Parts: sequence; structure tokens; C-alpha cells
Amino acid sequence: MKSQALTLFDLVERLSLLTRADLRQAGAAQGLQPVHLQVLFYLNQANRYSNTPQALTEYLGLTKGTVSQTIIVLARRRLLSRYTDPRDGRVVRLILTEGGGNLLKTLSAGSAWRDIVQTASPARVSSAMMVLRQVLTQVQAQSGKRSFGVCVTCGHNQRLGPRSYFCGLFQEKLSSPETRRICREHTPPVATPPAQG
Ligand code: SF4
Repeated sequence: MKSQALTLFDLVERLSLLTRADLRQAGAAQGLQPVHLQVLFYLNQANRYSNTPQALTEYLGLTKGTVSQTIIVLARRRLLSRYTDPRDGRVVRLILTEGGGNLLKTLSAGSAWRDIVQTASPARVSSAMMVLRQVLTQVQAQSGKRSFGVCVTCGHNQRLGPRSYFCGLFQEKLSSPETRRICREHTPPVATPPAQG
């Protein structure tokens, strides 16, 4: 009999293959490749510290060349735009255009997931998410990859009050919606050892 770890791996692998096939089909209808959609999906959830070509390269595990070609195609299609960081002229930042945002809304990829997950109990979904997140965190840590976690779960995130947050790393205030975005500098919080005696 297969171990639970192997069964979980197989399930994730098969879901990942199916998701990629869905993405390929959804993209083909728009004349786009899966990588183009992956870039748009990333920019749709990345925060203002993570919307650079370098962050994209790390998140998608692609080469710089592939990422810059992808950005050129998407910019030509007016699905994203590039701008120079007003605080550092060497840094290029990327932002979804209205057209890019609208395109994501029309894609059917992920809708089957939403429908199925809505029929499961929230407690089961939460525990599935917890296990998958733990595995992801471990795999990322073992391979020295960045976690790209959600801001609100970062060790640098300080809650100042209702809907008021502060980033200890960048020393800047964060709005509530920003704390729900993913970040290149996300750092898992340090676990506090249990009190002795
Ligand atoms: S708190 Fe962490 S995740 Fe949020 S912006 Fe700062 S470094 Fe990024």
C-alpha cells in the first residue's frame, strides 16, 4: 500500500497536470501560452515590493530571458505595463492593465476548483490548506527558495490596530488589502518555544 506521503504527492501531481492543461486551453482561446497567464496571475496577487521581473523569475522558476520575452509579449498586447520605480530609477516595475485584469476575470481556469471546494466543509478545506502549506514551506526551505507567502502571515507584519498594519522590514504602513497580497520578502514568523516548567 502506498504511504500517505506518496498518495498526497500523486494527487498534487495529477491536479497540477490537469490545471496546466486547463490553463493551456484557456490561454489558447486568447492566443496566449500558459506562461503568459502565469505572469498575469502572479501580478494580480503580488504586492508593491514584488512586482518586478526578478521576482517573477524567482516565483515561476524560469530564466530571465523567458520572463523578459513574456513581458514584451504581454506589454505589446496591453495586458501589463512597465514603469520605472519613482524611488529607484534602476528598478522596473510591472502592473496589470485594465485589459489584463479583465482577461483574468474571463478565464475559466480555477472555476471548477471553486465550485468543488464550496461543497466541502470549511473545516476540511482549512485542514487541507494547512497540510499543503506546510509541505510547500518545507520544500521551499529545503531548496533555498523564497516562500512568496501572504503578507499577513509574515514575521515582519505588525498589526497596529483595526485595518492598520506596518511592515517592519520596509518600515512602511500597509493597508488591509495589501496584507492579503503575496510578497517576495515574506518571512515565516519565528516559532516561539513553549514556556518551560
Ligand atoms: S510584512 Fe513581510 S510580507 Fe508584508 S510587505 Fe513586509 S516583508 Fe513583505
